[in-house]
Amino acid sequence: MSNQKPKKNLKPIKKIIKFGGSCLREPSSLRNIVSILKQEKERVALVVSAVSGITDLLIDAYHLSLSQDRNYQGIMAQIKNRHLLLASELLSLSHFGQYQAKSQEILKQLERTLKGLSLTGESTPSLKARVLSAGERLSAFLLAAVLEEAGFKCRVFETDRVGLVANQPSEEAEVVLEKFDFLFRKTAEEINQGDYIPVFTGFFGITEEGKLALFGRNGSDYSAAVIARGFQATVLTTYKDVPGFLTADPDFVPEARPVNRLSRKEAAELCYFGARILHPKIWEPLEDLETILEIRDFNRPESSGTVIINSAESTARIIKSLSVNQNIALVKVEGPGVGFKPGLIGKIGSRLAEKDLNILTVLTSQTCINLLMSPAAAELARNRLVELKEPAFRKITLEKNLALIACVGEGLRETPGVASHLLSILARKGINLELFSSGGSEVALYLVVKKQEAGRALHLLHEEYLGPGEAREEQVGLTITG
Ligand code: ASP
Ligand code: MG
Repeated sequence: MSNQKPKKNLKPIKKIIKFGGSCLREPSSLRNIVSILKQEKERVALVVSAVSGITDLLIDAYHLSLSQDRNYQGIMAQIKNRHLLLASELLSLSHFGQYQAKSQEILKQLERTLKGLSLTGESTPSLKARVLSAGERLSAFLLAAVLEEAGFKCRVFETDRVGLVANQPSEEAEVVLEKFDFLFRKTAEEINQGDYIPVFTGFFGITEEGKLALFGRNGSDYSAAVIARGFQATVLTTYKDVPGFLTADPDFVPEARPVNRLSRKEAAELCYFGARILHPKIWEPLEDLETILEIRDFNRPESSGTVIINSAESTARIIKSLSVNQNIALVKVEGPGVGFKPGLIGKIGSRLAEKDLNILTVLTSQTCINLLMSPAAAELARNRLVELKEPAFRKITLEKNLALIACVGEGLRETPGVASHLLSILARKGINLELFSSGGSEVALYLVVKKQEAGRALHLLHEEYLGPGEAREEQVGLTITG
């Protein structure tokens, strides 16, 4: 008879936890991760960002080496020291030795890439990704070592080795989800058979041709959503150094408070127009999944943070949060026939797409097409549209220094009178609206005001709809599922 142990009753991983760079900043932060995981009842998979500040250092090193400035070596030394210092504070000698060897390997590879860049003075997006991805590799092995030290079993999975297929070698790549689904299945099955915590590197993947690619700054949220998809997770928790979504930007509205629950649509709307709390691409990998997204405060892990669910839910408060983007410009294309002449919007769109000029929102009327864009893009857009010499465009103007406020809440659109009430509040205080739009989104109303009026407008709206008034989320008595 074999004395093999019977196979444990292993449960598949259904919860993914992502730790951002600020959760890895100091020895005490890493200890906090250990204590969070000790309280965790389920088996989890982790996704990590680089230690806070490291990606910026890598970007500096990248540029210095490209311009043949030897100072990149000094930055390399800083990167090495920060990791080894953290490791030395937290690891016993044998774990430290292992981590030191692993980090040396990563740093050697990094050094080779940087040296190559400084010799040729030329780069590609995938070489840049090779440099920047070192941050997540260093942090993933560090976290794994710290967790091992605390008694957990861990395994690091570098995401260029587990099927995170990127669509292009770029700094803003995306995962080809059908390919990922196919390739990751086996990895997930294997991991589910194990009894360790898998630690995935955030921020990067690899193209089918074997070129590294990045998912954009703060892209580890996106990586975490992809990994959640790979495990068909029911929960994706991301720890941040903020309490979750707030009722407004606290820089404008100091009395803003956390929002306990949002729908995905609401959260996506808030992120698109200003809230920087989540990577805007996080939603796509989670489509078709009921995964609950939790944002938790790393410094107060016991607090509930914000829970984002995949269905609509209206509360007593019709508006749940206000976001603001102060970096807005407006290109106005006027002409008596622009509203009914077919094909004009298409023409504008393709003319601007040729130069990758992104339009945030289009608002049209019979006589005017309004394009909301970032100021830099708007300037170029105006010039390109003027060059078009389209006879239907009688006047093309550019207005800068605007701010866009999004008022977000499920059920907003169907509730009669919200828009007029909102407008009257602003009008009463003499705040002039440059533009107003309802209907573009099911869950948001947009207001465009002069930049210098944004703070006052936000204040007024917050006081009216989100102040300590009669309606409270608590009254609705929502229960958290999952
Ligand atoms: N480390 C990368 C960055 O700083 C990715 C991330 O933090 O999510 O952008
Ligand atoms: Mg980061």
